[in-house]
Amino acid sequence: MPLCVYLCYTPGCNTKVERWMLTAEEGKNAKMECPRCGVVMAVAWLGQQTPTPNMKDAPMPRVPER
Ligand SMILES: [Zn+2]
Repeated sequence: MPLCVYLCYTPGCNTKVERWMLTAEEGKNAKMECPRCGVVMAVAWLGQQTPTPNMKDAPMPRVPER
């Protein structure tokens, strides 16, 4: 299940809503209303199969000591 992120671009609101959708397509077509101002929010991100980068898996840059 993709995690879909919706953003409200109303000045002073800027609410972010995350919803689990059955499919990315469903998330894209969903008209998610902002819980604060009621505006239909813009889809910011559709989870899909791309895994969230894991911090511990990221290569840690080594600063050589002098
Ligand atoms: Zn809003």
